[in-house]
Amino acid sequence: MSEQQDAPYEQARTVERILQGQPVTDGAGVELTRVIGQPALNSLDPFLLLDVFRSDKPQDYIAGFPAHPHRGFETVTYLLAGKMRHADNAGHEGVIEAGGVQWMTAGRGIVHSEMPEQDDGLLEGFQLWLNLPASHKMTSPAYQEHPPTQIPREQREHAEIAVIAGTTTMGTSGPVVQPLTEPLYIDVHLGVEANFQESLPPLHNAFIYVIDGKVEIISNKRQALLEKGQLGVLSLGSELNVNAGKAAARFLLVAAKPLKEPIARGGPFVMNTREEIQQAFADYEAGRF
Ligand code: MN
Repeated sequence: MSEQQDAPYEQARTVERILQGQPVTDGAGVELTRVIGQPALNSLDPFLLLDVFRSDKPQDYIAGFPAHPHRGFETVTYLLAGKMRHADNAGHEGVIEAGGVQWMTAGRGIVHSEMPEQDDGLLEGFQLWLNLPASHKMTSPAYQEHPPTQIPREQREHAEIAVIAGTTTMGTSGPVVQPLTEPLYIDVHLGVEANFQESLPPLHNAFIYVIDGKVEIISNKRQALLEKGQLGVLSLGSELNVNAGKAAARFLLVAAKPLKEPIARGGPFVMNTREEIQQAFADYEAGRF
């Protein structure tokens, strides 16, 4: 064991920060938990926002997100339960189902609505905002949309991994491709006492968000326990080692290449400068989206 594990352990990622989400109301009155994009963690380059929604009370989600614009980044919607209907001003429309993903490159701009396709029952999922580099903020809008049947599920010992984007150490590739930030986006299900190891690009920023149960992040420096609803910001490093405890656990592991560019935010727009944000508002108000 030691011969194989000593070297990677030296570069093992540890948990730098543990964060709890903040309750927010967004859209036309949707109750969300904001994990990235809150005062305690404004961004984690290239991640600009992570919202978690989980409710079986229609009043928490029924108002949805009526028509609103975006420019300069990507929105990634991954549903665990329920259905959401998406429609944009270019005539693109569809339904995201549980286990499915919509990876939308807003680029120079779209106006879209995101509405629950249900009147009751559980709606659960995530929306992640992923930044685009300055060179591609004004790219044409594009979609990568995949129902659950197109998302591979890698089997490991006492573990199953849904691979949405990127390629795992075992060689399973998700359907979403984004060479600009090289994201890895996986949904990891661990059985009781299961261990999960994954190699990561050492300089990519990464986080774990615990959906269910508890996980322990193990390195020779530090052990950290993450509980349901917590986000762990990971240190840089080439290896990740996660143990489930006495109960099954489920978490998202997301990593991507940082852009290291200035971030200017203005509501639904994320650009590099204040001037570009003002231009985005001017373009939107003049109907140029
Ligand atoms: Mn939106």
